[in-house]
Amino acid sequence: MVRSSELHSADCDSALPADHTARLAHKLARADALAAERGLALTTLRRQVYTLIAQSERPVGAYDLIAALEPQRGRVPPTTVYRALDFLVEHGFVHRIESKNAFFACCLMGEPHQSQFLMCDACGDTVEIPGHGLAAQLSRSAPAHGFEVHHQVVELRGLCAACKHGHA
Ligand SMILES: [Zn+2]
Ligand SMILES: [Zn+2]
Repeated sequence: MVRSSELHSADCDSALPADHTARLAHKLARADALAAERGLALTTLRRQVYTLIAQSERPVGAYDLIAALEPQRGRVPPTTVYRALDFLVEHGFVHRIESKNAFFACCLMGEPHQSQFLMCDACGDTVEIPGHGLAAQLSRSAPAHGFEVHHQVVELRGLCAACKHGHA
């Protein structure tokens, strides 16, 4: 159980409006502000890719993105989409969900953080839980094994509240 003191103050869900359209507008405004602040080129394609990821409650794979972009831009080559994804991951707009090879919008864009992800096996809904406590503990134990950590991903699989009650 993660103690509330270990959670980042801006807990992701509570920081966002409940309404889907308002949530997306909020995330896009944050993304645009971050790009402006850091002098990053959020090109039309990168913004379209970000928008598709940000409007999903589930991690989105590259081929789903290519299919979703087609009505807007025609067939975009996979390498082009992967380059846009690399940019979005590198600058913290989205996280790569390793176990699904898919992408999920970050709720704390622009703030350095470690995150854990709660992922529902039934419906795919994913929640980001920022918090440094667990990440720091894991990183501390690695050197005892002579191991140097370069990249750390913690993904928890299970059932979300809605699916758990549906299955009860
Ligand atoms: Zn994040
Ligand atoms: Zn679920």
